[in-house]
Amino acid sequence: MAPPPLGVVLLRPRGVVTRRTSVVVGRAEAEGRRVQERMLVLPLITASVMAGVCALRQSTADMGKVARYTLLYYLGTTLGAVALGIVLVSAIRPGRGSPFDALDSGVGCHAANAAKTFALSLSLKVASHASATSGRSPAEALLGVVRSAFPDNIFAAAASMNVLGIITVSLLFGAALSVMGPEAAPMVQLIGIFNDAIGKIVGWVIWTSPVGIASLILTSICRRAGGGGRRGKQNKVGVGGGKEVLPRARACNLTSTLVALGLFIVTVLLGLGLWAGLALPALFWATTRRNPAAVYRGFSQAMATAFGTDSSNATLPITMRSAVELGCDPRIVQFFLPLGTTVNMNGTALYEAVTVIFIAQAHGVALGFAGTLIVALTATLAAVGAAGIPSAGLVTMLMVLQAVELEQFAGDIAIILAVDWFLDRCRTVVNVLGDAFGTVIIDHHSRKWIPPAGGDDTG
Ligand code: ASP
Repeated sequence: MAPPPLGVVLLRPRGVVTRRTSVVVGRAEAEGRRVQERMLVLPLITASVMAGVCALRQSTADMGKVARYTLLYYLGTTLGAVALGIVLVSAIRPGRGSPFDALDSGVGCHAANAAKTFALSLSLKVASHASATSGRSPAEALLGVVRSAFPDNIFAAAASMNVLGIITVSLLFGAALSVMGPEAAPMVQLIGIFNDAIGKIVGWVIWTSPVGIASLILTSICRRAGGGGRRGKQNKVGVGGGKEVLPRARACNLTSTLVALGLFIVTVLLGLGLWAGLALPALFWATTRRNPAAVYRGFSQAMATAFGTDSSNATLPITMRSAVELGCDPRIVQFFLPLGTTVNMNGTALYEAVTVIFIAQAHGVALGFAGTLIVALTATLAAVGAAGIPSAGLVTMLMVLQAVELEQFAGDIAIILAVDWFLDRCRTVVNVLGDAFGTVIIDHHSRKWIPPAGGDDTG
């Protein structure tokens, strides 16, 4: 097999399956290995956050305003996306008729068992990687997010791609340099030069990325069409639990399951489309009175990369470059985007809420107002805790299921896995777009709060 193009090699997170003895466990291993992001992401986050904080060291009040509005944007849009998802899934009811019940009632028990094994191995793997949220109670999950933000060992955090930990350390380091005054000037300058050098490499990578993105998408389509390949095999097992199970499952409940899955896809895509095509541009126009078409145009390459890599982390270099090229203040870009990529995931939040309510519907469980509210809050938390890597949203979903006491249906995640390869790409595009609109909005308003760049940065 020919090696992937340079753009893909440098930007795409790795997801390698090495053992074929069990595709279910293999999938879980792949999840674990995906934390090994590609070469540019780590130095880019570190340098850009430190450089951003150093450059933003205006009066504390100004910096505080940027931080406050940034957090307000993250929280507001994530909750908004969740609310939209809940409205749609409640109106369309893709799980009506309880199509998944047969999986629990014996006929499809092999499928259910395989699915549950998958979910279990997935959550174990995630726990072993200290990923924040899956398979724990919401309080533990929240604690996990906070813990991962303050790593014991910064080198271990870097090696395991604990992005939140890396961001905290970089923020602290940048803040310390900022308050040190003139004696820190050489270091600040060095960080600035390092940041610019990384920017140059990103520019080269971007040059090759159209070929890389096209290769990734074509490979994925060919694997599925041929029924081979890593994910294709896992999906077969995920749905059927093994060759001998498929005919029985088909005889029993396949049609209603497929119809439900189809409706589920429509619900998710409609939600993502409405959020990205209506809600975000409306918010943008309402807060800036500017034409949102410029944002879509300016971030089109980032959107294509998000679709091709299904990772907002891997897309980050291109998102940052696009924001700067669109005229955003680099200090705002460096502060907003690395953090937003990790915690602001509108598409993932919407997806988590829709999927958990769909699973409840598919088993005939009525969540009621309180249950729906818990889904809304924990889906928001799960999206904050999800890393910007492929399928991370599926992993953190275990926590949302647990919050509404549906963990016995965790195996259904393996059924969702059959369609997740495509939905993941779409929600990653929405995650990146949420960050893109946010950057331009905060940049627009920050011009009133902080003086223009260009002064002496070295203190
Ligand atoms: N793939 C998504 C991202 O990188 C995360 C998810 O699985 O929802 O943004």
